[in-house]
Amino acid sequence: MTGKVYLVGSGPGGLGLMTFRAREIIDKADVIIYDQLPGEEILSSLPDVLKIDVGKFGGKHTKKQDEIELLMVKYAKENKTVIRLKGGDPFLFGRGGEEMETLRKYGIKVEMVPGVTSAIAVPECVGIPVTHRKFASQVTFLTGHEDPNKEESAINWRWLAESPGTIVILMGVKNLLNITKALIDNGMDKNKPVAIIERGLRPDQRVTTGTLETISSLATETGVKAPAIIVIGGVVTLFEPSLI
Ligand code: SAH
Repeated sequence: MTGKVYLVGSGPGGLGLMTFRAREIIDKADVIIYDQLPGEEILSSLPDVLKIDVGKFGGKHTKKQDEIELLMVKYAKENKTVIRLKGGDPFLFGRGGEEMETLRKYGIKVEMVPGVTSAIAVPECVGIPVTHRKFASQVTFLTGHEDPNKEESAINWRWLAESPGTIVILMGVKNLLNITKALIDNGMDKNKPVAIIERGLRPDQRVTTGTLETISSLATETGVKAPAIIVIGGVVTLFEPSLI
């Protein structure tokens, strides 16, 4: 079998932050399996080969994860060069690890092409460093996908509320109120600064800032929508929009 799958990170948005390696691999693809996260600029630059949109909108999966994985298996078995294009980096909350496991189970070769992750690059591009000697020597990346009120939450909210450093939350818009409440209830300072960056590095990027206590109602007022990165911690005080 000569087919192979490449799990390719597109970066956080825009061609400028896509790697040379990603571009090189994309340009030799037979099939590109993608969703909407890479954004318009990247998606409209894809070559004229078989392209399959497996995008998921508003939590509604147009194709289930196992169907996506089986699509990759199918084309690799037909000896095709298959690209699974993912926003940011494939291994950070991108289910890239699961896809690698499935492909291996079918004996299919899989190569990873790391991408610039939105978790660091999106705050960075608005002038918020995720670490800074004065504010944070530790950073926690978190999925906000899960409702903290769930009995079996995979996240230790007490530990998180007590830990110093920056918290970066992906996929957290829908649960923002529950997340901020869980952190406050577990002892985090309600005045801790928070920033939400929507559609980072896209032409319609928007930043909303507040505190742990105020951010959820501010987000409702301004109609904050996914995709967005939520940053909690002292580093947010470095946000200075007039000097970017
Ligand atoms: N693997 C990706 C993350 C996938 S999870 C990465 O490394 O970036 C999807 C989440 O990523 C979104 O819900 C959002 O929280 C975040 N995200 C990805 N691109 C983004 C962007 N350009 N602006 C804001 N958030 C983004």
